[in-house]
Amino acid sequence: MNVAVCVGCGETKEGPFEPCDGCGLDPARGGTDRMLQARSLWLSSRFFAEGMLPELGRRIREGEPVGYDLGMLAQLVEELKTQKLPTISRAAPGCSILTWSLLGMMLTLGAAAAFLYLHWRS
Ligand SMILES: [Zn+2]
Repeated sequence: MNVAVCVGCGETKEGPFEPCDGCGLDPARGGTDRMLQARSLWLSSRFFAEGMLPELGRRIREGEPVGYDLGMLAQLVEELKTQKLPTISRAAPGCSILTWSLLGMMLTLGAAAAFLYLHWRS
């Protein structure tokens, strides 16, 4: 399970790019704010044991430094640049299913039309 801490208020949430219930911060909607997304990704179960995350959340709530690794953040920003935006990639499976089912339907109709045409000619 993917667990993350909101970089804005320290609330625990389900994934780094999920909107926060506590303060409404939505890293995915930040669009090009990749540093915000990188920080969100860093404060997740990808980099910390799940047991560590509430402690990091507490530090954010109390305004203590959480010790961002700047080298790692720069690396994450690069990684995010080469990826589609989280919002887009989250929507993609649905889109491609729609595209493929439309394509499948067209192929089926095409095959049926060809069959009827050949049948009619003979
Ligand atoms: Zn928050």
